[in-house]
Amino acid sequence: MKIGVLCLQGAFLEHEKMLVSLGAEVKEIRTLAHLTDDLDGIVLPGGESTAQGKLLREEGLLLPLKEKIENGLPAFGTCAGMILLAGKLLDDDTVHLGVLNAVVKRNAYGRQLASFKIDADFKGVGKVPMTFIRAPYFESVGKGVEVLSKVDGNIVAVRQNNILATSFHPELTNDLSVHKYFLDMVKARG
Ligand code: GLN
Repeated sequence: MKIGVLCLQGAFLEHEKMLVSLGAEVKEIRTLAHLTDDLDGIVLPGGESTAQGKLLREEGLLLPLKEKIENGLPAFGTCAGMILLAGKLLDDDTVHLGVLNAVVKRNAYGRQLASFKIDADFKGVGKVPMTFIRAPYFESVGKGVEVLSKVDGNIVAVRQNNILATSFHPELTNDLSVHKYFLDMVKARG
């Protein structure tokens, strides 16, 4: 199983380590030439979505990646990666990949609660340790989007067919279960 990890900016190394420890082969995606047809899935890491969106455009990766995800390539976005996937950002006309039928609020927790850790339920997995860093959450989700986790009443993890997105950073904990959930999605696709 070959999983691409978008390595333009942010916490990509941590994702790579987790994927490798679960037995996946990792391919770093930095340019359009890396976005080959043999990928079984792609991970979009956390970091800063404006910077990542700019680099995606500069590298000519934005539309080809969008097309691949729309054609069924399993994609997993964490934090900034979730913002890249979003169909709409709250009070903001910016759209990056726009493949996920949901409205995302950036920096949703404000300055007071910019970063925190919590254990919360993740549907189909159980309790998962979650690390939030200037995190977004889902303001609302549309048709075809399944809510997998809520923290304090706010939606922090969803799935829409081949797309998985989390507000939090599972790659910054020692818990592999959310990455395993994603690899199971990849396997199920065949
Ligand atoms: N606040 C960041 C953004 O808007 C996301 C933070 C993160 O990925 N940890 O891009």
